[in-house]
Amino acid sequence: MKNNKIIIIGSGPAGLTAAIYAARANLSPIVFEGFQAGGQLTMTTDVENFPGFPDGVQGPELMDMLRNQAKRFGATCIMKNVDSVNFSSYPYSIQVGEDVYKAHSIIIATGASAKLLGIKGEEILMGRGLSTCATCDGFFYKDKNIHVIGGGDSAMEESIFLTKFAKKVTIIHRRDKLRASKIMEDRARSNPKIEFLLNNSPIEFLGSADKGLSGIKIKNIITSETNQVESDGAFIAIGHNPNTQIFKNSIEIDTNGYINTLGKSSMTNLKGVFACGDVQDSIYRQAITAAGSGCMAAIDAERFLEENQKE
Ligand code: NAP
Repeated sequence: MKNNKIIIIGSGPAGLTAAIYAARANLSPIVFEGFQAGGQLTMTTDVENFPGFPDGVQGPELMDMLRNQAKRFGATCIMKNVDSVNFSSYPYSIQVGEDVYKAHSIIIATGASAKLLGIKGEEILMGRGLSTCATCDGFFYKDKNIHVIGGGDSAMEESIFLTKFAKKVTIIHRRDKLRASKIMEDRARSNPKIEFLLNNSPIEFLGSADKGLSGIKIKNIITSETNQVESDGAFIAIGHNPNTQIFKNSIEIDTNGYINTLGKSSMTNLKGVFACGDVQDSIYRQAITAAGSGCMAAIDAERFLEENQKE
């Protein structure tokens, strides 16, 4: 069985940037793209904050460009999920369906997934008035009435950020007590543009693929009464899940499930295994920071391979 120099798991901005750098270093990386190739950006439409695109770019188009750039330099992209990893013997091996691939270094770039509500209308309206990222999409809601779903720090942070654009932001939370830290709650409560709709949970997003989101059907948790609120845009901010399930027992992970990286590097606790992008970043979570950390991971892997004189 061939020992590959680098295998990259994940194909968002982190994985594909790592692939571009690794390919340009003649390391012939293999990228396992997963079934949702391109990662979270394939779920958004306009991306206006990725440097170099003054008129914005469609998320899927940006990911296609990154993939083509990586392929141009010799990366192999395989649209398959990695089922399991074996980091207990070296070279490391990964299981993909019936096949086992071996590699001297592995870059983990499996990202994180925004938690979703799983209610009617959510899938069809995502990117059409419904979003999971205020930093990415807030700009489209100038002078609009928008809603943020969630009661944690993310919901408070997103709401405060969104008041820069929106006329009014209403936070819909399923309890009467917020989960957010006191300081974040105070900031949100003292913001004149923010209102709270407590003890309510969305049960359906209303609208159509053509016209986008028009409203939200909500249910009062105490009275079970249902209601409809008009909405120009809704942001789901109920947390993220780092995609670390397959690594859980083999690599150091923090209490929130994110892979621990060492200092300013992409190194994990395992030699030759590097992590980049949202799978190790619960703070910035931007396409550009993910891409930057993908570059770091490729450079770290290249140095590791050089120092360890692997074939
Ligand atoms: P979180 O603390 O887990 O809060 C998630 C919120 O979403 C909770 O209020 C929860 O309601 C609600 N929720 C979860 N599932 C729901 C569902 N199915 N339907 C309706 N509501 C639902 O997540 P987070 O806000 O993303 O924060 C994650 C971590 O990052 C935290 O440690 C947080 O402190 C940190 N963080 C910090 C900052 C900051 O300090 N600037 C900013 C962002 C995040 P319940 O309360 O009822 O469970």
